[in-house]
Amino acid sequence: MNNPVSHFSLEVDGVTGVCPVGEKWAKENISKKATPVLACEGPCIRGEIARLAANIVGKEDSYGRACYAEVALVPHSSMTQWVKSADKIIMIDGCFLSCIGRVLNNLVDENKIVHIDALRLHKKYSDLFLMDDVPEAERKEAARQVAAKILAILNGQKAT
Ligand code: SF4
Repeated sequence: MNNPVSHFSLEVDGVTGVCPVGEKWAKENISKKATPVLACEGPCIRGEIARLAANIVGKEDSYGRACYAEVALVPHSSMTQWVKSADKIIMIDGCFLSCIGRVLNNLVDENKIVHIDALRLHKKYSDLFLMDDVPEAERKEAARQVAAKILAILNGQKAT
């Protein structure tokens, strides 16, 4: 039986290393004052569309793609520093469960986060789990459409 709770904590083992290329990427984006774009990266089709859409949005001027796992799980990393110091953060979750958005709410000031539920923007594939059940070209097209709607939202236009 499902028993939802309002809050919970996870114990995470510490780590001493850093990812050299992640450090370089994050430092470049800190110096450019780029807005970090994160995705839940869930392995299902919903998470995959969120991941692909985040890749597209992250390529836009003034945005940059950030690694949510490094942000949350390598707290001494420059990736974490980038997201914590950003004025605005774009968080694209694959569905209404907002898995990483809920983590991010506890890492940074919630008011700085633009939460996006990609499923609400495409409304597809609710009967499928695996991304491989959707042809690659169709996955990419769905992500392209979601990214266009996200950019419209970020630019203050109404997404259709
Ligand atoms: S938000 Fe949805 S798609 Fe993303 S990891 Fe959670 S359950 Fe999966």
